[in-house]
Amino acid sequence: PVPDPSSVVRTTCPYCGVGCGVLATPDGQGGAGIAGDPEHPANFGRLCSKGSALGETLSLENRLLHPMLDGARVSWEAALGSVAGGLRRTAEQHGPESIAFYLSGQLLTEDYYVANKLAKGFLGTPHVDTNSRLCMSSAVAAHRRAFGSDTVPGCYEDLDEADVIVLVGSNTAWCHPILFRRMVDARAKRGTTLVVIDPRRTQTGEEADLFLGLKPGTDTALFSGLLVHLAESGALDQRFIAEHTAGFEAALDRARAIAPSLAATALATGLDEAEIGRFFDLFAKTPRVVTAFSQGANQSAQGTDKGNAIINCHLATGRIGQAGAGPFSLTGQPNAMGGREVGGLANMLAAHMHFAPEEVDRVRRFWAAPRIITGEGMKAVALFEAIERGKIKALWVMGTNPLVSMPRADAIKASLRKLDLYVVSEVMADSDTARAAGRRTVLLPALGWGEKNGTVTNSERRISRQRAFLKPPGEARPDWAILSDVARRLGHGQNFAYLSAAAIFREHAALSAFENNGTRDFDIGALSDISDGAYAANRPVQWPLPKRGGAGQKGRARLFADGRFYTFDERARFVAVQPPALAQDTSTAYPMVLNTGRVRDHWHTMTRTGKSQRLSAHRAVPFCEIHPDDAGPLGIRDGALCEVASEHGTAELEAMVTEGVRPGSLFMPMHWSDATASQARVGAVVRGVPDPVSGQPELKATPARVRPV
Ligand code: SF4
Repeated sequence: PVPDPSSVVRTTCPYCGVGCGVLATPDGQGGAGIAGDPEHPANFGRLCSKGSALGETLSLENRLLHPMLDGARVSWEAALGSVAGGLRRTAEQHGPESIAFYLSGQLLTEDYYVANKLAKGFLGTPHVDTNSRLCMSSAVAAHRRAFGSDTVPGCYEDLDEADVIVLVGSNTAWCHPILFRRMVDARAKRGTTLVVIDPRRTQTGEEADLFLGLKPGTDTALFSGLLVHLAESGALDQRFIAEHTAGFEAALDRARAIAPSLAATALATGLDEAEIGRFFDLFAKTPRVVTAFSQGANQSAQGTDKGNAIINCHLATGRIGQAGAGPFSLTGQPNAMGGREVGGLANMLAAHMHFAPEEVDRVRRFWAAPRIITGEGMKAVALFEAIERGKIKALWVMGTNPLVSMPRADAIKASLRKLDLYVVSEVMADSDTARAAGRRTVLLPALGWGEKNGTVTNSERRISRQRAFLKPPGEARPDWAILSDVARRLGHGQNFAYLSAAAIFREHAALSAFENNGTRDFDIGALSDISDGAYAANRPVQWPLPKRGGAGQKGRARLFADGRFYTFDERARFVAVQPPALAQDTSTAYPMVLNTGRVRDHWHTMTRTGKSQRLSAHRAVPFCEIHPDDAGPLGIRDGALCEVASEHGTAELEAMVTEGVRPGSLFMPMHWSDATASQARVGAVVRGVPDPVSGQPELKATPARVRPV
């Protein structure tokens, strides 16, 4: 039920992984007043520019309000019949593995759960991946290699309690603004030192106490040098290493091969020896140190190694899972963590279980799904390449805009014509992905923020409710209901007989606890009997929440302080990382390195934030940052139009001449699409070579050239 106008509804911001609590007061006319929730532990009442402008993004302009089939409005009956019939035909003619789902960290956990269950349990396709592959899958892989599980060891309070915070590849001031304010507050209160490691001098770098503007892609050299320094300066926690870890000597040997000295580290990273020495000393001598890493580390063909190089230094000093100390992955999206929980990545099955035979058997029995898949599917880059090769015949995209955000987006756009069935569950009618036509295209109107009900999990493992406070517009429906209707039409009605998001959440919680004797990290069994009323009123809580802890338990802020990890021998693993190398070399034709990222006031492909004039005013047009040393000889003037080109495509943007980027580097924001600008899609230009472990594509270092237009 939608609440009365003027009643205040507690919900969660739909943008970044901080997961701030929001108070929404509906005005009864489709709008709402927005304020920060003072009781939410992520933000204590604060909101950033994007969150505070949420009320300006609620209009129905450009909304997809009715099901569409090949460009014509149709009934739900016809649309769902077309989807179910198309999936059935595709499976019969080409096998179930010719069907793929591409999901999103924007989906609520309940929607994600049902999509994953339908595909992997009942359609029999393993090819379910998500835009979270582009966001933090390298952090997931690094966690699993080090801890035996995808567990974030710490919490936001650690940022309040650290004496040194190291930010790696993160423009936190713009991309996780409320967390950045916590860090700045910590500096004011306890003198916390902020170290920022980033090839680009962002707003975050401007505010750092120590800024290390290293060469692109050399993070593993810097953290290898740090590991060597820790060993040589007597800063190792020998007891922790001996009792709770394995692989230290091999990791240290590799680190010595990569960065044996301060001078070698300086040569590899392009940094000054003195500034590296200051960083190493700070880290070595400060017990309370948090290293927070984000897309600059993750979106790399060596992203997993970068994560492990960071984690290695925390394991070597025993600084993990303790107040004010630990490695910390900052997730980009509102529900990247929830998607991981349900198994919405191609290399996961469900509830943090993978494909060991006993795990497959466990999920098979729980879901009553005899046709459950038994192995990994294709990750995002490979999945879209399989469409180009004609291997995938049916694609269902939910809540994401891959024709803007995926690498080689133009090639992907062209390949959609090879599909026999193209289904897009969308909020907006005019996104690039919704407008792209396959041979048989079904657009399904989904509920958006403020209209749908469910849960999201933020970067510190905290599950919060998103609640509806607006009426469903047009014929839009919850994603879980759409998926369940398709499942019924395919003969799986009894397995998808959900009447509410709460019912799905109970099943998801029960699966997390099913035959879980404490050897799996993700356990929210205490919520498996949650009543509809308790779900409606549920307050933010961190997992794990095992059943034995009972209802009302607070959850665990930190894990691993006892030195017990989720590997078979309960020891964490050091990883011997690879020497730094960019996946693609520059050339005479493409002599520069193109970096990509966000701006402060836009979110993803601007389908929501583009509606706010206030937000759009911050950066009104797509732009390309270039260093004056490059701009001058190329004849590029600040504010003039320039063309950025790679082997894969081109974009036209306004030049921004700045010393914030290194000479030889370019920076392009990710937000603009064909729907909002002409030819400024970042996805059209980047190549996206995937990390061999995580499959996360390199979005920070594409060889490119630039010229005036
Ligand atoms: Fe929303 Fe992130 Fe801003 Fe919080 S910091 S208000 S979650 S965009």
